[in-house]
Amino acid sequence: MTDTEVKRPSVVVLGGGYGGLKTAKALDDVADVTLVDPSDAFLHNVAAWRALVEPSWIDKIFMPLNRLLHHGRYVRDRAVAVDGRTVTLASGAQLEPDYLVLATGSAYPFPAKAADSDQHRAKAQLRAAHDALSGADRALIVGAGPSGLELAGEIKAYFPDKEVTVVDVNPDILHGPFDQELREELRRQLDKMGVRLVLGSPLHALPDVAPATPAAVEVTTESGETVQADIWFRAFGVRPATDYLRGALAAAVDDRGYVAVDEQLRVKGGDDVFALGDISTADRDTAGAAGRQSEVVAANIRAAITGVGGPRAYEVGPTLIVVPLGPEGGASQLPDGVSGAESASTIKGNSMLVDMYSVHFDAPER
Ligand SMILES: Cc1cc2nc3c(=O)[nH]c(=O)nc-3n(C[C@H](O)[C@H](O)[C@H](O)COP(=O)(O)OP(=O)(O)OC[C@H]3O[C@@H](n4cnc5c(N)ncnc54)[C@H](O)[C@@H]3O)c2cc1C
Repeated sequence: MTDTEVKRPSVVVLGGGYGGLKTAKALDDVADVTLVDPSDAFLHNVAAWRALVEPSWIDKIFMPLNRLLHHGRYVRDRAVAVDGRTVTLASGAQLEPDYLVLATGSAYPFPAKAADSDQHRAKAQLRAAHDALSGADRALIVGAGPSGLELAGEIKAYFPDKEVTVVDVNPDILHGPFDQELREELRRQLDKMGVRLVLGSPLHALPDVAPATPAAVEVTTESGETVQADIWFRAFGVRPATDYLRGALAAAVDDRGYVAVDEQLRVKGGDDVFALGDISTADRDTAGAAGRQSEVVAANIRAAITGVGGPRAYEVGPTLIVVPLGPEGGASQLPDGVSGAESASTIKGNSMLVDMYSVHFDAPER
């Protein structure tokens, strides 16, 4: 650095998922940004089910984190303790940035999210899951939320002859704040595709074999229905990754693992520590919400650094969802109401939003 250069304030972003990558990118021109993630690639898990049924998608959904930032650095490591703005990494290194952004997201069962932080091994595991699915005549999906329904649609679109059964403890599909019209449209299409729904009764037990592997499974609901399959998938169980928080930050974590934030997305009790995405109480666990929160966090840090602009508050977005059932099917709940297969396909089912994220990985490899 020359005498005339001014040292930029430092920002550490923990987690290069949907929210973290956008925050790091948005501050790259104004701060000395360090992005920390144990994985060598961002996994665009929104398209993971597509890659499971059609392996030509596998290479498209892993995006190398060393090509995200033009100025800042990416450190392949994991935060094991964060107390105030002091970050201790698994390697033993410590970081003490001026601003800290927690964006460590959530764990979700393989293969929707990767089981390995090395992209080569993660891709090989996804290919093995594809082979296991290809060899199965009957697939069981536990969970009739958006993820489970999408998986059912993908399997039926690419392997119409396979038997697909979705089970859920709830009496209807898509538990949550959605219009009934959306459920009805999805049920109509699932029925047409030949997907069997077993709803409204808990399972005695989950299969005792690993999901996404070839294995004969049999489950029984408490109401007495039995489902047999040759492979099963677990489509529930988001677990926020916040176990590394210590001191006042740990006190902001609720009993489900979510971090409480104020309206500017600062962690309650933290000094210039922000949290966003699936770990935060600010909104629903969606990539869309993580992206909108990243804009607010980046704007607030930028305003604090430059002195230009006031603090921004996060506003919870409307309930929007697009549930493709394969490339051509599905339904959406949009601001102007519920719509069917054509818009689901145009908005998401065809492209699976790959370009929306790959566009950020434009830096020379570093
Ligand atoms: C099958 C499926 C389909 C989905 N489809 C959609 C969709 O269509 N639209 C939508 O809006 N949402 C969708 N979602 C939800 C969406 O994927 C999540 O809401 C989103 O991943 C949350 O983003 P995030 O940035 O909070 O965290 P994540 O994307 O979970 O990223 C967190 C990152 O933090 C890293 N990390 C974890 N622990 C540490 C640590 N200790 N130190 C450093 N780094 C760490 C991880 O390696 C990871 O890279 C889908 C989810 C699934 C499972």
